[in-house]
Amino acid sequence: MKLQINNLSKTYPNGVQALKNVTLNIPKGMFGLLGPNGAGKSTLMRTIATLQEPDTGSIQLGDLNVLTQKHEVRRVLGYLPQEFGVYPKVSAATLLDHLAVLKGVTNKKERKELVNALLERTNLWNDRKKNLGGYSGGMKQRFGIAQALIANPQLIIVDEPTAGLDPAERNRFLNLLSELGENTVVILSTHIVEDVKELCTNMAVINKGEVLLTGTPSDALAGIKGKIWRKAIQKGEITTYKTNFNVISERRSAGKPIIHVLSESQPEGFISVEPDLEDVYFSEIFGKKQLTMTS
Ligand code: ADP
Repeated sequence: MKLQINNLSKTYPNGVQALKNVTLNIPKGMFGLLGPNGAGKSTLMRTIATLQEPDTGSIQLGDLNVLTQKHEVRRVLGYLPQEFGVYPKVSAATLLDHLAVLKGVTNKKERKELVNALLERTNLWNDRKKNLGGYSGGMKQRFGIAQALIANPQLIIVDEPTAGLDPAERNRFLNLLSELGENTVVILSTHIVEDVKELCTNMAVINKGEVLLTGTPSDALAGIKGKIWRKAIQKGEITTYKTNFNVISERRSAGKPIIHVLSESQPEGFISVEPDLEDVYFSEIFGKKQLTMTS
């Protein structure tokens, strides 16, 4: 099973072009869709999840045409939207049981086994009787995954799931997703580079509706190797550097600004740095010239 998106475009009635000819080939495993706010990630996620229509283009999931076989796609889809509401006065176990009935699991014993397995899998077993209103952000997100898994989906879409999670919860959540990616297509949309760094087998960077880069994280790093340079500067110098160099990021070390510059050759006074995925991302989003890389 893989997901193939071809030349997808969408312009909203207010004139915003949210997707421009998006083409992506998404194999089994965890796929990171990385882009800043407003890049078009949610539009793409909702379109793949059959919740809205593109103007042009096609989406194929295995043998299914996602744009015309919505019903069939929904049967194999687990979707965790950006805003995930829960009924605050119901326990996780009760709500999962109820949702399983709605999904057609009518046999009581079978349903109990399914619900218990989902609670174990998402590490919510000990809190299964607590009302969802008392869940932390991370627990709610894991509950979101538990409910998405009821249908045993072949495609799982999670839209910006780690916003607001503390580091331990975030790790637990990402590890859960990465386990699911062993058998499933998992698409993780995020503006956080760290989310993609360790767990995603493939990634794309999207901005202003356009795919800027696609490939494995290591391909992406190889594409800018030897082209990222670093310099510690004075606070007041940043504007001058931005005018004269292709500054992609400004970080701070012990309060002092350190800039990273994208350049084919070594600018005077700069030292070479081993690029990380943030450099890839910032080069694509803020670099003045496009880098060439294989996809
Ligand atoms: P992201 O998820 O990456 O933040 P979105 O897909 O939500 O990006 O938005 C992409 C662009 O489309 C933004 O400029 C946003 O303001 C615009 N947009 C999103 N949804 C709508 C809508 N329903 N109507 C009009 N414009 C929209």
